[in-house]
Amino acid sequence: MIHVEHLSKKFDDLVVLKDVTVEIRKGEVVSIIGPSGTGKSTFLRCLNLLDRPSGGSIVIDGVDILRSGADVPKVLRKMNMVFQSFNLFAHLSVLDNLAIGPVKLLGMSRSAAERKSKELLKLVGLAEKADNYPDELSGGQKQRVAIARCMAMDPEVILFDEPTSALDPTMVSEVLAVMRRLAREGMTMVIVTHEMDFARDVSSRVFYMDEGEIYEEGSPAQIFDKPQREKTRAFINKIRSACFRIDSPDFDLYAMNAEIETFCEKQILPKQMRQRILLLMEELLIIYRPLLERTSLDVTLSYSEKQHRLDLALESEGEAAYPLDKGSLPDEFGLNIINNLAEGTEYRTVGNRNRLTMSIRKG
Ligand code: ADP
Ligand code: MG
Repeated sequence: MIHVEHLSKKFDDLVVLKDVTVEIRKGEVVSIIGPSGTGKSTFLRCLNLLDRPSGGSIVIDGVDILRSGADVPKVLRKMNMVFQSFNLFAHLSVLDNLAIGPVKLLGMSRSAAERKSKELLKLVGLAEKADNYPDELSGGQKQRVAIARCMAMDPEVILFDEPTSALDPTMVSEVLAVMRRLAREGMTMVIVTHEMDFARDVSSRVFYMDEGEIYEEGSPAQIFDKPQREKTRAFINKIRSACFRIDSPDFDLYAMNAEIETFCEKQILPKQMRQRILLLMEELLIIYRPLLERTSLDVTLSYSEKQHRLDLALESEGEAAYPLDKGSLPDEFGLNIINNLAEGTEYRTVGNRNRLTMSIRKG
């Protein structure tokens, strides 16, 4: 139904969409997730030409809307958008907000448009509010009116741009419930959202967008349970990380510890986890010290909020040599401490980089 190829968008020198190629089939519900500022809104706005794409093609029901001569208004009428900020007409009653489009743009008679509008208000649970004005409604009610107004135009696809992010938390669910109902009735929907549980429940496919491209796509189970690529994983698991480079045996251990403490504080880690990571670093650095004569060491701490897990990675260059090998260590004392503090220890060599990873024990 919608066929996007090599879509790009620049604002002056700023490249916002790089090279987006996707297909959205009739009846699909596609959720777009990802960090803010990565082009999700711009992508939706390009789809219905609220923003003019810089390159590529958008084919809707066989018509390339970027080619001159295409009947763009006719094609765009099939697509309607729900905004974060509702965008209702403040000077019109709820009923008129719905009826005006069909009358003015579709040539429907006033009475037919009102009849239809009342039905749609019933569908979103707001039949009683037909004669009210938008500013007499709550945010959740306004957004439900906005969805009904969209439906009044008989769209074949609805684009939603973070429809619940301007709402009071108590009103999110009423709007999601209406959207769920539309999805169940087979409406084709493209939804930019931060509501992960909702996206998982309702979508047939999920796009993870990052830095102007669709970085990973898949079924909700693939994206939420088994994301394949690094940035997707970090986003889904709410992973935050901090990196340090140690490039001499005389490095300032106290300064690094202070930075680690700051990181832990920011992530609100329990005290026990903080103590463990500091002790663990101290022990590991004793073992790594000889290596620091020859090469530098990159330390990465990453905390997954969702899994409540703190991971540590130490990466060095040079010949692979398992640093925790019993035989090469002066005594087992340090090793025992490390094993008490950490679990899931792994050593891997990729190219000439050797990576030791472990997770801080929780219990
Ligand atoms: P998202 O919806 O993923 O948060 P947006 O699509 O809103 O991201 O924005 C992506 C980038 O494009 C941002 O850096 C934003 O500042 C920039 N941008 C969006 N709209 C415009 C515009 N009209 N003019 C200039 N820059 C814009
Ligand atoms: Mg946005």
